[in-house]
Amino acid sequence: MTAQHQPDLGASEFDTVEAAVDDPERTVLEIDGITKDYGQEVAVDDLSLSVRDGELLTLLGPSGCGKTTTLRLLAGLERPTAGHIDIAGERVTGDGEDGFRQPDQRDVGIVFQDFALFPHLSVAENVAFGLTDLDETATQRRVDDLLELVDLTDHHDKMPGNLSGGQQQRVALARSLAPEPDVLLLDEPFSNLDVRLRVEMREEVRRILKRAGVTAVSVTHDQEEALSISDRVAIMNDGTVAQVGDPAEVFENPESRFVASFLGQASFLSGRVAGTAVETGLGSLDVDRLNGSVDAYDGATVDVLVRPDDLRAVPTSEPKADGYVVHRQYNGPSFVYRVELHSGDVVHCMHNHVETFAAGEPVAVQLAADHDLAWYPAE
Ligand code: ADP
Ligand code: MG
Repeated sequence: MTAQHQPDLGASEFDTVEAAVDDPERTVLEIDGITKDYGQEVAVDDLSLSVRDGELLTLLGPSGCGKTTTLRLLAGLERPTAGHIDIAGERVTGDGEDGFRQPDQRDVGIVFQDFALFPHLSVAENVAFGLTDLDETATQRRVDDLLELVDLTDHHDKMPGNLSGGQQQRVALARSLAPEPDVLLLDEPFSNLDVRLRVEMREEVRRILKRAGVTAVSVTHDQEEALSISDRVAIMNDGTVAQVGDPAEVFENPESRFVASFLGQASFLSGRVAGTAVETGLGSLDVDRLNGSVDAYDGATVDVLVRPDDLRAVPTSEPKADGYVVHRQYNGPSFVYRVELHSGDVVHCMHNHVETFAAGEPVAVQLAADHDLAWYPAE
């Protein structure tokens, strides 16, 4: 967990919705080799993952990679074709009618994409909906605690139709946290919010989940969202996990081109190892700059991962230029220039908005990164 992700623990110990995580090393959710096929279509393919107590893990991947099917398998809305799922130490996907736990027999909460609030029930009644085991007084106390947790105390009696999108999401969260699920599932939780609210609610949802101490699995196709809210991110491709790790680890050390390209803009610089140097279209780099450089043997051809913020374009005249600007993309605070190198590689360079190059301009490209560079054996 990075410093900016430290949970907010500044709450009173009398607040009953605050749950300390008993044992962060304990596995609450274990997915062991699950497969789900629909005839010829394999939606989830031999996927394994484990999620620890109080952890927020995000499944991140392109549309159709099997994220929603995985959540539906966890919720008990689908039966796996093969493999097992254990929740809080109990097998929920055993054989036969007794072994397979239906959704209502699992301690799993779900926050739906469209929030799915009951429109004819008030905020408090929505939150109380799943609290069937408590008496009236205990129910009211728990609802009050949950509304305080999600910062909606003043909206107790309002109807969902009179709430903003962000407030509706808070109610949906409070409702799904009310029965204290072992695992909370969130499918594309921010997709119904406008862009500005999305960024605000990302932080807010993380704060709420951390204060509740709940173990959660969320799903998104948005890499920035996944990297910003999660303790760990599992990048999925074709029904299986391509890589899992904490956000900085997967972003800085993607194990494959797929993961590198899915997490932000990636360009690959082809190079050839010659002794202690790597010869590239930007000139010679010290081989020590490569991550795990011991594996880059003399004579190997490699593709070095470079992201837009790793590179700077500098105006120059031929013959000193490394290539030409072929495109300029304006992003508001920055420009990203696409540069075609004389070597044939295409790279991207990010600059602040006051620097402008025209398309066609010759440039030298400098490596500005001070971190080690990920690389892959050339294809
Ligand atoms: P994601 O949520 O990552 O976009 P899904 O889990 O919805 O992906 O789908 C994964 C794959 O499984 C897709 O190719 C999809 O078409 C297929 N799929 C999902 N549900 C069904 C179904 N009920 N019947 C047939 N194919 C399905
Ligand atoms: Mg989906």
